[in-house]
Amino acid sequence: MKNDENTRKKELVCGNPRIWKDPPGAMMYCSGCQHPVIHRIISEVLEEMDIYEEAICILGVGCHAFIQVSWSIDTLSCAHGRALDSATAIKRLNPDAIVFTVQGDGDCLAIGAGAFIGAMTRGERITTIMYNNTNYGTTGGQLAPTTLIGQKTTTTPLGRNPKLEGYPVRAAELAADFEGTVYSARGSVNSPANYKRAKKYIKKAFQKQIDGLGYSFVEVLSACPPNWHLSPVDCIKRIEEEIIPEFPLSEIKG
Ligand code: SF4
Repeated sequence: MKNDENTRKKELVCGNPRIWKDPPGAMMYCSGCQHPVIHRIISEVLEEMDIYEEAICILGVGCHAFIQVSWSIDTLSCAHGRALDSATAIKRLNPDAIVFTVQGDGDCLAIGAGAFIGAMTRGERITTIMYNNTNYGTTGGQLAPTTLIGQKTTTTPLGRNPKLEGYPVRAAELAADFEGTVYSARGSVNSPANYKRAKKYIKKAFQKQIDGLGYSFVEVLSACPPNWHLSPVDCIKRIEEEIIPEFPLSEIKG
């Protein structure tokens, strides 16, 4: 009897997503990084919508790209900033595939700005999930297009000064302005409620692609403890108190 009870207690109630390799490759993330949380949402959505077999993920350059070692879906690594150009070609050659890019804010909005604008202008039937951690995390915490006014980075040690470095780019609002964009939203994973909301946004973005309507975009805020010089817990507070007021969470289009 006692053994039966123990067996019941050990019943698996939550495991790795099915599309993660078994065993998953080592994801080399810092403690408190939220990129793996966003990876998990995407994995859950691909499974729940049953589209993982036809999914092709085009990865930019940045910490987000470490997911390649753990996902068993088709992936392609691109030159910096060129994910949306590659995704365009792959979707046009494989119109039935679910083609999406996973990019950081630097990859999508700085070096990849031309490809981003081009994909939206053309209304490509692809999806982007952009992780916004307000800096270039992989290369040591430099200023990114999304860095907040006053935020200290390695290239703005006194804080971002709009007179010198300009203003943060609000990508989800920018994307919503393009006629070729049919869905644009910004989410966060700083709380269970926001996790669910971000998941709903990503599902909707994929659905727009399945329906063949045009380009869909979801920005997700993500903590970067070492480059923010904060503990993981304080990063959650910073997202709530400083970042969400600058980058409000909502469905902007769709
Ligand atoms: S540098 Fe930032 S984005 Fe990169 S793994 Fe570490 S916490 Fe995550």
